[in-house]
Amino acid sequence: MADLLNLLRKVVEAVTGARDLKLALGRLVSMVGLGMKVDACSVFLWDPNVDRYVLMATEGLSAAGIGKVSLSKNEGMIGLVGKREEPLNLADSALHPNYYHVPAIGEDQFHGLLAVPIIHNRRLLGILSVQRGLIKRFSDEEEAFLVTLSAQLAGIIAHAEATGTLSGMDMLGGQAQNDIRFSGVACASGVAIGRAHVVMPAITLDSIRYSTSADIPAELKRFDKAIAAVQKELADSRDRLQSELRPEELALFDVYAGIIDDQAVAGAVREKIKLSESAHSALADTMRGYVQHFEAMEDGYLRERASDMRDLGQRILSRLVEEQADRSIPMGSILLGEEISATVFGLLPPGNVAAIVCTQGSANSHLAILARALDIPTVLGAQDIPWQELDGKELVVDGYRGHVYFQLSVERRAYFEELLRDEKVRVSGLDALIGLPGETIDGVAIDLLVNTGLQTDIIRSQESGADGVGLFRTEIPFMMLGRFPSEEEQAKIYRSQLEAFYPRPVTMRTLDIGGDKSLDYFPIKEDNPFLGWRGLRVTLDHPEIFIVQVRAMLRASLNLNNLRIMLPMVTSIGEVEESLALIHRAVYELNDEGVRVDTPLVGVMIEVPSAVYLVKEFMTLVDFLSVGSNDLTQYILAVDRNNPRVAGIYDSMHPAVLKALKIIVTEGNAANMPVSVCGELAGDPLGAVALVGLGYRSLSMSSANLLRVKSVLRQIDAGWAENVSNGLLSLDDPKVIRSTLQLALQKAGVPLTSLGVLPSHS
Ligand code: PEP
Ligand code: MG
Repeated sequence: MADLLNLLRKVVEAVTGARDLKLALGRLVSMVGLGMKVDACSVFLWDPNVDRYVLMATEGLSAAGIGKVSLSKNEGMIGLVGKREEPLNLADSALHPNYYHVPAIGEDQFHGLLAVPIIHNRRLLGILSVQRGLIKRFSDEEEAFLVTLSAQLAGIIAHAEATGTLSGMDMLGGQAQNDIRFSGVACASGVAIGRAHVVMPAITLDSIRYSTSADIPAELKRFDKAIAAVQKELADSRDRLQSELRPEELALFDVYAGIIDDQAVAGAVREKIKLSESAHSALADTMRGYVQHFEAMEDGYLRERASDMRDLGQRILSRLVEEQADRSIPMGSILLGEEISATVFGLLPPGNVAAIVCTQGSANSHLAILARALDIPTVLGAQDIPWQELDGKELVVDGYRGHVYFQLSVERRAYFEELLRDEKVRVSGLDALIGLPGETIDGVAIDLLVNTGLQTDIIRSQESGADGVGLFRTEIPFMMLGRFPSEEEQAKIYRSQLEAFYPRPVTMRTLDIGGDKSLDYFPIKEDNPFLGWRGLRVTLDHPEIFIVQVRAMLRASLNLNNLRIMLPMVTSIGEVEESLALIHRAVYELNDEGVRVDTPLVGVMIEVPSAVYLVKEFMTLVDFLSVGSNDLTQYILAVDRNNPRVAGIYDSMHPAVLKALKIIVTEGNAANMPVSVCGELAGDPLGAVALVGLGYRSLSMSSANLLRVKSVLRQIDAGWAENVSNGLLSLDDPKVIRSTLQLALQKAGVPLTSLGVLPSHS
């Protein structure tokens, strides 16, 4: 088993580093053939252009058949495994009723067959098979190995396929393609056309995949600069440790310097760059080769040098990446990367960013929330986009549908350009609503508040004519700073919010870190962060942080009195009582110091299931409730709001979430308790209508959405919305709920475009 695990790691590494799909599959079949001691190993991939499985690589069958031999959906074992999408392990395949003889492939001598499907994101990519001359089933261990290998390879094959498509070739090396489309999760609406600006993550040598660069001299220069920097690093370390290390230990530094300097490493990398490979891809491939070479050595001492090689490679790589991270971001750039944290994003010049695309993340990750606040079209969780290949290339981001296009056709470009023009007209048309009240046709007033966090939100929010701030995410200024802000610094930030909106209310949430919101200077490492030390749990364990923050809020509100304090991630009564005691203590302390402040209104967020069932009890303690529908959805549905793999089942219009929303508002309204929603559902025009129908009269959203929501609410009748929402509660599927609501609105005369639904491309 250990051998198979070793083989698994080696195959995955070799395939990851391959230049293209052909080479990747070639390496795969020869390594598996040898490692499993089988007589044949082959890969068939599904080609949708011809509706057949095509033999793409083989070791053991006739090589002449590669690219030529193909099978239909119903033919042979391959067809059967594809249809069932499960492994097939046969002692003698020739005896199976589905056996199909392919002439001239050299299969007649084989009997034992093990074939497994290759599936990526529910899509069948092809079949991986191994065969032996013996009449014997493959062992359970071998079956488990091939299934595991296929699962790990699926993502790599999908990526290689996509990269092949990018180079203008389809999977089988056919025609160049236009309008190449990658899909992800639509996170912030809008369309952008611009050039990709790749944001490099903290990458490791193993995570680098093959990529090219057209600018060979620039790549060589980058590489040489990185080498020089690492040489200097090594020389500096050597000097620093001169008096502490023995001469033979010091000599190691010279050996390392020699390794990267000599023709072996640097020379090999330069050769690859000259063949158009990007510097980091060439470096990673070369170093992986060295690591494997050393790992295979008999001699224990030499084997250990593998980790030195890995370390050296990583150092050079860090320098290469650092170099790229320092690049300035030109106006109109489309930020592209694996994962861009909200903190990193906050440090970039947002004015230059036309759109954001990441392979990770989902609609309610905090990057998405920031992007919506700044009205930047965003697609996250675009898992298959070969981002390392696209730096500087023109892309189109369709933030409505979650699509990213490359190599646009003339017609599609015209479509998107028209959409952009329409969007401008529509947005400027909304300006007429700024001074008008948020109310339905039948005169029901709906408070429309904004969610803020960034300093720039103040101006945007004021321009939207908001009724106040329903959620100030105080953790955002904490994330932007490299340390905890002092009481004084916090008071200044809070004062600017309170003054800007005075006399309208500003709801400040106490620090809500944990989950996916981390402070670099206060790292929290947990296996399950969304169920861990989050929000109020952290600040109650650190009353010094809580008290300082509340004091700063209270001092900021001096003579303004428009402050409301809100508690995040509340799960039990005791937490509210403890928080209230601390807030009262802060008020008492300040008055004692001669700062005359009143106790502000205090509210709780309802964002975990336990809170839904404790609404009545909370109402005896606090002054208002605010529903965090983002987390409430995550916790009711047990779906990580950040994880693109489960993005399809994260939906705040899920009937279970709507039922919880109904319980909260019904109890709140019965007790005359102010209840609002500050999650993203409130800023979705469709969601806002559903919420008003359920009974909510206060919605808080990003300023970019406020006028869109106001426009829709001013076109409906609250009584009508109540009927529609009650009907929605009896439906069982979020998609059906959305389309039913959309249809009802359309029938009521609300145009689809004001709901964020676009005309489709022919
Ligand atoms: C929510 O969970 O809905 C919410 C508003 O808080 P956040 O998105 O900041 O977690
Ligand atoms: Mg929340």
